[in-house]
Amino acid sequence: MIADELASQLATLERDGLTRSVRTLASPCGPRAVVDGRELVSFASNDYLGLASDAALIEAAIAGAQEWGVGAGASALVSGHFAPHAELERRLAAFVGRERALLFGTGYLANLGIVPTLVGRGDAVFSDRLNHASLIDAVQLSRADSHRYGHNDIGMLERLLERSSARRKLILTDAVFSMDGDLAPLPELFSLAERYDAWLVVDDAHGFGVLGPQGRGSLAHFGLPPSPRIVHMGTLGKAAGVGGAFVAGDASVIDWLLQRARSHIFTTAAPPLLAVALLKSLELIAAGEARRAQLAALATQLRVGLTDTRWRLLPSPTAIQPVLVGDNHEVLRVAAGLAERGLWVPPIRPPTVPAGSARLRVSLSATHTSEHVAQLLAALRELEHAAK
Ligand SMILES: *Cc1c(COP(=O)(O)O)cnc(C)c1O
Repeated sequence: MIADELASQLATLERDGLTRSVRTLASPCGPRAVVDGRELVSFASNDYLGLASDAALIEAAIAGAQEWGVGAGASALVSGHFAPHAELERRLAAFVGRERALLFGTGYLANLGIVPTLVGRGDAVFSDRLNHASLIDAVQLSRADSHRYGHNDIGMLERLLERSSARRKLILTDAVFSMDGDLAPLPELFSLAERYDAWLVVDDAHGFGVLGPQGRGSLAHFGLPPSPRIVHMGTLGKAAGVGGAFVAGDASVIDWLLQRARSHIFTTAAPPLLAVALLKSLELIAAGEARRAQLAALATQLRVGLTDTRWRLLPSPTAIQPVLVGDNHEVLRVAAGLAERGLWVPPIRPPTVPAGSARLRVSLSATHTSEHVAQLLAALRELEHAAK
């Protein structure tokens, strides 16, 4: 019986501390979350700039709904591409310094669109071992030969590129690794792309809005000039606070995506009211130095506060500050201890991260205060001995 099989598989997950469940929030996304009737300080969202519940964005969304209704009615290519979408694509392209940009429903869909559109059978993709699941799935969908290199291991990547005789090559990387918070060495990856005539696809889900001058993203952070071989993907549901994603690049690449990316062609366009909200979000991101400075100050406070404790932070310069725990059951115990103290920090376990590297993923937001971080530090200190 299939049902019995599933029941036994679920029991195995339970035994291994790998069962997942959703928590229902009774409050909007922000530094405080009401869950099961309790208010917790949340370090669980990717709303890095605190825009998800920003009053100006809410106002823009309401105005967008009044002007454009609530649904797009069709895919972009049929009749779902409205003036706010067109304006947003223009503004996103200009913001990240590229010729054109194309909107997607989500980052997952953007990645599923990019890779199979650029490479196929007989081509080769070179991926960082810690890349996001959406990139891994995208490679499978492309049917290209898949090569994985060790995390940020430029030497290994070069050896793989050297040996490859594939017609087209594509290097694929997270710009900011989503469960580690560290950065990919984009200048070195770009040099290799040039030397071996490869595409470089950069998934900037966690860098867009946060890194670089005015939050223009990871490529701007490294001062990399636009290149026809760089494809820049960014998501709009994290720092931008709304939802969706974009791909920016040379006009020919974007036009090719428009012709061929199935996850763009065969899906209903996002409601135009979201594009209206995102136009406001882009303004706030560009003018968001104070928010980014607050984010950096909170990260420093957390890192300084955990020195000389048993807690090991991974080396991250971003808003993602993971505390390495290791064991699946222990990470659940520590997360439960934090919850008892009014704090929500998600425990991250395999397969999201490699076996034996379960962690608490502390995610900071500009709307956190130093008191919130102090509360987290105090709770972690209390749990230092209890959790051993
Ligand atoms: C979140 C994330 C995505 C997916 O973006 P969504 O808009 O949430 O679908 C893709 N890549 C990375 C690295 C991410 O962290």
